[in-house]
Amino acid sequence: MTNTDDFVSGKDIENNKETTTLTRRIRLVPVLMDKNSEVEPDGADEELKKKIADYKYSVYNHLKKTLKNQITVQNLIMTNLYLEELYKTPKEDREELRRLYSRMPGSKKESAYSEIPQEFLYVEHVTGVEYCDIYHKVYLDFCKACRDGLLYGKVSLPSYSFSSPINYSSKKCGLRRNNPRTNNGIYHMDSCDEEFFEHLVKEKNPKLFLSLPAGMNFKLSLGSLKKSNSLRKEFIKIFNGVYKICGSSIEIDKSNKVFLNLTIKIPREKYELNSDNVVGVDLGVANPAVCVMNNSEHSLFLGDKEDMFNLSKKYQEEKRRVQKGLAFTNGGHGRTKKLQKLERLKEHEKNFRGTMNHKLSKKIVDFAVDNKAKYINLEKIDSRGFREREDFVLLRNWGYYDLTQKIVYKTKQKGIQVRFVEPAYTSQTCSCCGQRAADNEASWRVNQSDFICRNSDCEKYLKVVNADYNAAKNIATCTKFCDDQDDEINKSI
Ligand SMILES: [Zn+2]
Repeated sequence: MTNTDDFVSGKDIENNKETTTLTRRIRLVPVLMDKNSEVEPDGADEELKKKIADYKYSVYNHLKKTLKNQITVQNLIMTNLYLEELYKTPKEDREELRRLYSRMPGSKKESAYSEIPQEFLYVEHVTGVEYCDIYHKVYLDFCKACRDGLLYGKVSLPSYSFSSPINYSSKKCGLRRNNPRTNNGIYHMDSCDEEFFEHLVKEKNPKLFLSLPAGMNFKLSLGSLKKSNSLRKEFIKIFNGVYKICGSSIEIDKSNKVFLNLTIKIPREKYELNSDNVVGVDLGVANPAVCVMNNSEHSLFLGDKEDMFNLSKKYQEEKRRVQKGLAFTNGGHGRTKKLQKLERLKEHEKNFRGTMNHKLSKKIVDFAVDNKAKYINLEKIDSRGFREREDFVLLRNWGYYDLTQKIVYKTKQKGIQVRFVEPAYTSQTCSCCGQRAADNEASWRVNQSDFICRNSDCEKYLKVVNADYNAAKNIATCTKFCDDQDDEINKSI
């Protein structure tokens, strides 16, 4: 195999700490090219319009044919791998297996020995997808199935269907300038990179194309400037050679839209971190989120409580209003419309939260990097709530799980580790002396925003401390970790 390194499996990522991979889904639009420039459908005459339509149709057709052939070959390779593995079994067992196979309808016993199936020669000729592109992917899937107990009958032999993507190696979908011998790959049509970068950050549809075998040309549709901001920056790094395109795939969805799942290998950012430095994050009452260092006075108060509270309330009220309306609508068009409105409202709220959590998590992780913290301590998530305290914690209603996921995701590239701590008494205990009010005593947390230590030996004796700061400090210094939850969150990413 010549281009194994084009494929990055989960294992490769684990083994190679220097790089990490990202996959970006990008819409592809087939475009007719004429002498290296795009034929614009606007203002085209009837004949040209027909030519464009015919071209698009032929591209879809070709992709579907490619997929069909790929599936055939993939399933064939999978069967071969399986049979080869079975033939490795001892002679006496083999007799039994043979008997089994002879009963298997359509079994191709002989093909287990032929390296490249005859059928494949035809496929390669027609579609331009190389055998090794496909083989490696199938091989990885086969290995996974073996680990899952394929040979003991625990799982069945994996098979490929029309929902599978079409795999292309980086020689086909990498940068075209790196493939001088073929005309395949991603390219722009500006006179130089600088000009292209300028268009990339300013124009919704920069001239970015992908050319694939069999004369298939696509324009990459990146989406709105705002939403695809990071993707556009990634393309600058790709063209500058900082990021590398790996083997990627193409997918056709149910409505015949074509998507490129572009896999990019990026160097892991290197940060100097100190394992003695820990950030504690508290979901505060007076402040949505507070970050505090375990060993210094550095702290960061995040989010606008009023803003978040008002918006949260607004969404709740709006939803209640629509739901109330629904109760009085028996059916028909009015009901459908109201249901749609409710769905839209929920979607809107979810997006808003997503954006908010994205911003919060970025600030939290930046704070950790600035303070060279190797660890971020978060409160453990509990189905019953968070901790013993009853007061209203705003972020609890703001998708805390989503926020923690975003923090874990962002720390991964930076080598920072997220830990979850037992939240018991974090808001009741003095972060300076570690004492808390005795059972018969009034709480030292005097109100939502103030904490007063009443231990006369304490440095902070009778001094008013910000209650959220105090809680975050306790989280930063806490050593009671909940490992299982850490695993769960890490796994889900
Ligand atoms: Zn104290």
